[in-house]
Amino acid sequence: MPQSWKLGQATITKIVEIEVPGRMTWIVPQATPEALLAERWLQPHFCTPVGKAILSIHSFVIELEGLCMVVDTCVGNDKPRDIAAWNLRQGTFLQDLTQAGFPPERVDRVMCTHLHVDHVGWNTRLVEGRWQPTFPNARYLFQARDLEHFLSADDAMHSQAVNDSVRPVLDAGLAQPVDSDHRVCDGVWLEPTPGHTPGHVSVHIRSDGHEAVITGDLMHHPVQAAHPDWASSADVDPDQALATRRGFIERYADTPTLILGTHFATPTAGRFVAEGDSHRFVVD
Ligand SMILES: [Zn+2]
Repeated sequence: MPQSWKLGQATITKIVEIEVPGRMTWIVPQATPEALLAERWLQPHFCTPVGKAILSIHSFVIELEGLCMVVDTCVGNDKPRDIAAWNLRQGTFLQDLTQAGFPPERVDRVMCTHLHVDHVGWNTRLVEGRWQPTFPNARYLFQARDLEHFLSADDAMHSQAVNDSVRPVLDAGLAQPVDSDHRVCDGVWLEPTPGHTPGHVSVHIRSDGHEAVITGDLMHHPVQAAHPDWASSADVDPDQALATRRGFIERYADTPTLILGTHFATPTAGRFVAEGDSHRFVVD
C-alpha cells in the first residue's frame, strides 16, 4: 500500500517512482557524507550510517472536494535522458498509480511545481511512437512564468524534457497556464516559492483546519532545514532560492502545518522545529 495522509476531508497519497541512497553532492554540493553524518537526526530515514543521502522521486495525489490532482510527475518511462538511472526507464509507476486507485482517466488536474525533468516525466507516455498526454481528462496546470522560461530553454537537458513532456500537452490543448497564487479549489492553492526556477510553486492544502504544504524543489533534502544556505546546483537564481528557502522554513517552523517534501525519503512528511538559531525536520 502506498503511503497516504488524511487531512480533514483531504487525502494525500504518495506514489514513489525511485527511492535510493546515493551521493547527493551533484545536486547539493555541500551535502557531503561527512556533513550529513554530522547531523545525527537525519538517521535513519534520510541518511545511511555511512553518510549516503536517501532521496526519493514521487508524486502526490490530492483528493479533496471532488478534485483528483497529481502533483509532479517524476521521470517517466522511455525517455532519453543524460542521467543513467533516468534514461529510457521501464518502471512500474503507472501501474502503481492505477493500483492505488488512480487510473489515468480519473485524474482531473496535473500540477508541476516546476518544469524540471524529474517533475514532468509522466505528463506524457509513448503510444505508437508518439508522446501522448498520460492523463487524457486532466487539465495540466503550468505556472505561466516557468512555462515561458522552459519553452525558450536552449540547453539539451531542459529542451529535451520540454519537447517530450510539455509540448505534447500544449499541442493536445490540455495545458492551463496559471499564476503563482492560483487557487485550484477552496482547499488547494499554489504558493509562490521562486528561485529554484523562475515560476516555482509549492502546493498548499487545507481542510477542516488542518494544513499541509508540498515543498517542490525549494529544498531537496531535510538537511537544508538546518542549512538553508546549502543551495541546489540547479537553482536558477541562487539568491532568490535562498531567500525563499529561509522564508519557507521560518513561516512554517513550530506550526502544525505538515510539510510534505517532494524529494524527502519515506516517511516524507514532518514538521520544521526551531532548535537554537537553526531548525530540524521532525517526522511524525
Ligand atoms: Zn526535482
